[in-house]
Amino acid sequence: MSRTIVLDHAQNASSDISNGTIMKIAFFDIEDWEVEHIKKNIKGHELKFFKESISKNNISLIKNYDAIASFIYAKLDKKILDRLPKLKLIATMSTGYDHIDLKECNKRKIMVCNVPYYGENTVAEHTFALILALSRKIYPSIQRTKMGLFDVNGLRGFDLKDKTIGLIGTGHISFHVARIAKGFEMKIIGYDIFKNKDMIKLGLKYVSLNELLKKSDIISLHLPLNKSTFHIINSKNIKTLKNNSIIINTARGGLIETSALGKSLASGKLLGAGLDVLEEEGCIKHEDELLRKKFRKPCNIKTLLENHVLMKLDNVIITPHNAFNSQEALQRIIDVTIENIKAFHNGKTFNAVKQ
Ligand code: NAD
Repeated sequence: MSRTIVLDHAQNASSDISNGTIMKIAFFDIEDWEVEHIKKNIKGHELKFFKESISKNNISLIKNYDAIASFIYAKLDKKILDRLPKLKLIATMSTGYDHIDLKECNKRKIMVCNVPYYGENTVAEHTFALILALSRKIYPSIQRTKMGLFDVNGLRGFDLKDKTIGLIGTGHISFHVARIAKGFEMKIIGYDIFKNKDMIKLGLKYVSLNELLKKSDIISLHLPLNKSTFHIINSKNIKTLKNNSIIINTARGGLIETSALGKSLASGKLLGAGLDVLEEEGCIKHEDELLRKKFRKPCNIKTLLENHVLMKLDNVIITPHNAFNSQEALQRIIDVTIENIKAFHNGKTFNAVKQ
């Protein structure tokens, strides 16, 4: 059900953007405080704000629009793009852009911009929230005291000091994970197609993916999801993981083959998993649609079911793609999105995604 438009905001006053043309820009998944901030900072354009994600319910309201700013909840695929013949810019309010069909955008000469660095420390801090929740059994500990019990039986955890953390992907978020890991006096190893000098300065040692899987007590994923990274942890290589290791994924669900993860957790090979992202998480969000005539998007029901099994396992903690969600990070997202739109209007490429 569409939650309808928050408001339209058209201004003919002189633009604060040098190029004189007035753009029609639609913002999706937007909160009230963001509306106010955008209105203050983008003047001279026709703005439309939606609280909900872009969908077939609201797309007819923006069919002549030049630009959209949206979050990761809706797939921007051929079907959606077909309905937006005038679209020239997608400003995704996220780092990841795997929800956008870049090939289609390229064909249609639609520029795609993202927000590359808004949540480096934010996601890294959430990564450690998941690690510590598992290493110190925080969730069952709290459940117990909520029941009025003050008993430590079965709640013994493990220290992070001197443990090896293996970072798959050593980019921006990973750097902050390594910085925090250093504070815990952990050994840090990493795998990436590129070596990051700053990581080496922090004390990270680059190894092969195989070596990382074998040696890490904690594996944390910090990769984009694309053809080369899809199921980078899979039924074959998950067997080589160190016994009793834990795996943390705050990047994208598709990096891990869900069935392989479930089997390793259920068999006790893996001690635990902390997941902020799941394969088919978009379907979980809308799974009530399964009961309606038509499911909004194709969905792998087996993976969906496996996710439900994961949610119930005692050694798995799952957060609902919430790692980015700090006030400071959201402010940075909105500010950079505004800059991306302004730059586009000025004929510049700012944070353009390579297509
Ligand atoms: P980044 O681009 O700075 O780092 C990604 C790293 O992955 C790069 O160093 C790159 O070389 C490496 N890489 C790419 N393909 C690879 C491959 N095939 N094998 C090995 N290494 C490869 O990205 P980042 O800012 O650190 O973000 C990482 C991911 O985190 C994003 O792509 C996004 O999907 C995810 N993310 C999640 C949230 C959340 O709320 N859970 C928020 C922001 C970002």
